[in-house]
Amino acid sequence: MIFHVLTIFPEFFAGPFAHGVVKRAQDAGLLDIRIHDLRDYTFDRHRTVDDRPFGGGEGMVLKPEPIFLAVESIWPARTPSQKVILLSAQGPLFDQAAANRLSQESELLLICGRYEGVDERVAEHLADEELSIGSYVLSGGELAAAVVLDATARLLPGVLGNDTSAAFESFQETGHGEGLLDCPHWTRPADFRGWKAPEVLLNGNHEQIRRFRKESAIAKTTRLRRDLIKDGPERGE
Ligand code: SAM
Repeated sequence: MIFHVLTIFPEFFAGPFAHGVVKRAQDAGLLDIRIHDLRDYTFDRHRTVDDRPFGGGEGMVLKPEPIFLAVESIWPARTPSQKVILLSAQGPLFDQAAANRLSQESELLLICGRYEGVDERVAEHLADEELSIGSYVLSGGELAAAVVLDATARLLPGVLGNDTSAAFESFQETGHGEGLLDCPHWTRPADFRGWKAPEVLLNGNHEQIRRFRKESAIAKTTRLRRDLIKDGPERGE
């Protein structure tokens, strides 16, 4: 899968994708991340990407021309599986279901807004969808793009090794988790400062371990995220 990121701060992305799962997946050729500098799609001496908002008011707005030109240059003949996503505090919330959906596409282009935001014609006539990573305002779309990319990339075939499957993680409706939180985990030492790992996890009985994990996932979800329990009072009645 190919991810494109359009930003005025390309150097921002030197960090987030240089480690761990996403780095290994890139090295293995399972995904390709291409960072594009929005200023490369301007023609004036100052490489201007923003302008004052019509109607007055504070701040600056990212202009439509460089953004349209960038997308049209990256994809001269755009196909339906080449999706443009505008990161925006105002979009529907990005969640695991959205990550699953996006992981089915062949190419994504993530547009990072800045300042007061992006000229509305980008949302109306260029982007396939707007996505927000949470109901708060960030200074720019770069952090949000990194979040969307990371959560989507780990769902691609082969990105997680055989021993770790996304199907066993929190929120996955499709795996054995049924949309619950993941079960809690423990590792060595079995006794740390007198706090003991559950005995059942040490006894090698796979059926008991499976049952314990299921029950503890339900208990943890009920305690921390009751809204994920399908028959809970918030959903059922
Ligand atoms: N004036 C906008 C508003 O009140 O909704 C906020 C603009 S914000 C300072 C600048 C850019 O950061 C946005 O265009 C968007 O790309 C990005 N951004 C901010 N919060 C975000 C969020 N929660 N999710 C995704 N992107 C966000």
